Amino acid sequence: MDAEIVTVGTELVLGFTINGNAAVIGGLLAAAGVRVRRAGVVADEPELIEEAVRTALDRTGTVIVSGGLGPTRDDITREAVAKVFGKPLRRDPALVERLRGWYRGRGLQTMPEANLVQADVPEGATILENALGTAPGLWIEEQGRLAVLLPGVPKEMAALMEGEVVPRLRRREDGNGGGRTIVKSRTLRTTGIGESAIADLLGDYQARLGERVTLAFLPSVAGTDLRFTAWSVPEADADATLARAVEVIRPRLEARIYGEHQADLAAVLLAQLAAQGATLAVAESCTGGLLGARLAAIPGASRVFVGGVVAYGNDVKLHLLGVSADDLAAHGAVSEPVARQMARGVARATGADAAIAITGIAGPDGGSTEKPVGTIWTAVLWRETERAFTLVLPGDRDDVRSRAAQYSLDTLRRVMAGAV
Ligand code: ATP
Ligand code: MG
Repeated sequence: MDAEIVTVGTELVLGFTINGNAAVIGGLLAAAGVRVRRAGVVADEPELIEEAVRTALDRTGTVIVSGGLGPTRDDITREAVAKVFGKPLRRDPALVERLRGWYRGRGLQTMPEANLVQADVPEGATILENALGTAPGLWIEEQGRLAVLLPGVPKEMAALMEGEVVPRLRRREDGNGGGRTIVKSRTLRTTGIGESAIADLLGDYQARLGERVTLAFLPSVAGTDLRFTAWSVPEADADATLARAVEVIRPRLEARIYGEHQADLAAVLLAQLAAQGATLAVAESCTGGLLGARLAAIPGASRVFVGGVVAYGNDVKLHLLGVSADDLAAHGAVSEPVARQMARGVARATGADAAIAITGIAGPDGGSTEKPVGTIWTAVLWRETERAFTLVLPGDRDDVRSRAAQYSLDTLRRVMAGAV
């Protein structure tokens, strides 16, 4: 079954409110096996709502609409959709009674008359009880066309989606005798490799994924996530279908994959160290504590993470970490010998089994032709192994610092795995 989503609200179009409802509705529909083809946003204007709902129905036959069911003048969805179906609005006496009861129940004696529009129902529509608010949901189905109207308040919308809409859609599908299918996703997280480099490594993969599986590349400062989605597969086969698709890709990227779903690289690394009974210390220049903060944010970090030195200025590098003054003068603070000595210095000071050091140029100033903004050196120690790497990271100051922390965590992870 295909469907579209229409979210109504001028505040959404202007960007004052993030369109969370579209995300929630999309996720719930996908989990119920509905293929969401399009999600639109329109301002609180009758012609816009009418057009959006009409075209969505023409394309897929099913539309879920959220917003604009309230009592104020900008709440006009009900009327616009009634028009699309050519149905008059009728005031439902039971709903009027319910509205009055809602106000009485809250110790408010008189209900503003404006509320009565919420008891208006397009002829033939089914009322979806809203336990959390005054505007009920509406299910309008006629001649193969289905429009579901939901209030905009996120909690009310979500409760109606889960409690009323999804179960009805499932029953409707089952009634069609086709057997239940779902849409399901699985995400592999990679870092330290760009999306185009991944695409090169994967080659022409689509045919091998199978026709029901798609792969999306989702880049961010944390790395590139690879999201596999199985579309319209029988519920019982979804996991196996995704597992087959993942195994097509995984061998080509093995060492770059650090986890699945929402995995945090800091947590992955801490778990890897904990499994070996090892401890970790950090020495940070350009990240100024970001790395330590990421590690400390993970519950249970204290079993592994002993602490670190924020060696932002050269004096701290010299006096607390024992970096050589000659090397600092000869190579600069952002250099291989300094990164290596920072890592050794913090390991010596703390007795940790593993250490990570970062030094770099976060910008916007401080770059040069040999060392442009974004240049970092990271050194890692893992027992007897010491390795150092450099690269130039893209983005602004925040991006460079976040990417540097992520890259250095991944470097230790891969050194421990023998994968660099
Ligand atoms: P009510 O009965 O409360 O008036 P309504 O159907 O008229 O419900 P709206 O007036 O459109 O809903 O929105 C109510 C609240 O929900 C507003 O604060 C709005 O910003 C928020 N909201 C509406 N649509 C969305 C959306 N798509 N995503 C997130 N929040 C939303
Ligand atoms: Mg509104």
